[in-house]
Amino acid sequence: MPTIIVIGAGPAGMMAAGKAARLGCKATLMEKNNRLGKKLVITGKGRCNVTNDTDVPSLVKNIPGNGRFLYSALTAFSSQDLQQFFQEQGVSLKVERGNRVFPCSDSSFDIVDGLRRYLQQNRVDIRLGQRVEKLLMENNRVRGVVANGETFPGDVVIICTGGASYPATGSTGDGYRLAAEAGHTIVPPRPALVPLETAEKWPRELTGLALRNVQLTLLQGEKSLGNEFGEMLFTHYGISGPIVLTLSRYVTHSKNTQAVIASINLKPALTLEQLDLRLQRDLRQNQRKEIKNALHKLLPKKLIPVVIAEAGIEETKPAHQITRAERHRLIQILTDLRLTIVGARPLSEAIVTAGGVSTKEIDPKTMQSKLVDGLYLAGEVIDVDGYTGGFNLQAAFSSGYLAGRSAATQCLQAR
Ligand SMILES: Cc1cc2nc3c(=O)[nH]c(=O)nc-3n(C[C@H](O)[C@H](O)[C@H](O)COP(=O)(O)OP(=O)(O)OC[C@H]3O[C@@H](n4cnc5c(N)ncnc54)[C@H](O)[C@@H]3O)c2cc1C
Repeated sequence: MPTIIVIGAGPAGMMAAGKAARLGCKATLMEKNNRLGKKLVITGKGRCNVTNDTDVPSLVKNIPGNGRFLYSALTAFSSQDLQQFFQEQGVSLKVERGNRVFPCSDSSFDIVDGLRRYLQQNRVDIRLGQRVEKLLMENNRVRGVVANGETFPGDVVIICTGGASYPATGSTGDGYRLAAEAGHTIVPPRPALVPLETAEKWPRELTGLALRNVQLTLLQGEKSLGNEFGEMLFTHYGISGPIVLTLSRYVTHSKNTQAVIASINLKPALTLEQLDLRLQRDLRQNQRKEIKNALHKLLPKKLIPVVIAEAGIEETKPAHQITRAERHRLIQILTDLRLTIVGARPLSEAIVTAGGVSTKEIDPKTMQSKLVDGLYLAGEVIDVDGYTGGFNLQAAFSSGYLAGRSAATQCLQAR
């Protein structure tokens, strides 16, 4: 029976190995960790946002890093196909805000268990603790791999080793070296979906504070680079959270070195007039209190001193003494609280890796290498990256599915 070797038991590798075995090939899945899906279990804060319940054009749109390259893969195995796959493996799913799909149990372990069942049902040979060090090549054709010093012959090899972020999960960029040794071009890996560092130190005092329903805009001089509405978080180095991660692309991918300013509108649902009326009411109702104790209905407690200081008001000033000009300065800060971005956190802290094996050297209809016969690639090892919302896992599952299916077809035809 023809043998397919899959390197890496993340979502791409497990899907590829399971699909190839289901189609009648002998599939060996080699994983250097001692368990399956080590990164998968930490996704979605342990809940695993497994996909986004939307159509193929919208999936492509939400994968700004070479989404169009994945068109065939996403069509071959869509979000709806993925959801049906998990239901068939006994994992119930639910759709939340923004079409985000999670397991009903809110446990990513159920996703890994569903994939493990799929591998077992199709008799995939799972080899844990096996780090693939080298591809075996002969006349520009792949012949197997070397793992932990031992040779494993194979007719086809699928590289699914992931990117280079969160290296403690096993994604240490090994696939880049394996693909480069086979002649592939590696687009330099860089962080995508990554927290941002600020020059100001006050976010440190607010570490852990999450702001919901705020509008974040990144500015460079007069130009707006982009804006997002939703949730963000203060950290000991600056800002993080979903809308920050999404906008981080404008910092990590920019060649312009001019300073980037993050402007937070804390009250985007209110017009300036509505906000002024609201503020006047709060000041009236708390007129005997110091201003620092008069804004608790408007703002989270920890943020009040920051807003007052940024507005240049003495925090012990009684609410009834706040002048019209001071009130307008407060409104200014409430709708445009600014932070200077000094950079992004390193690749190791990014949710995904942009860059990787060049899409130009991979056939998008099969995921086969255009350079080496019998070599396929899938998942984050490829130069593809998506936004938050389940798009990266869908990309990994779809490309893994297509690679497994195409590899099996090649093997079975060669028999
Ligand atoms: C904190 C965090 C949260 C995330 N949350 C989400 C989310 O909710 N939704 C979403 O869509 N995306 C999320 N992502 C992104 C998503 O996890 C990745 O895009 C996805 O896991 C990539 O899948 P993959 O199979 O390509 O690679 P990986 O999941 O990285 O798997 C690669 C596997 O290959 C193994 N490997 C590497 N080198 C070798 C070798 N030489 N030999 C053998 N094995 C090897 C690794 O050990 C690893 O198990 C999150 C990422 C992080 C870090």
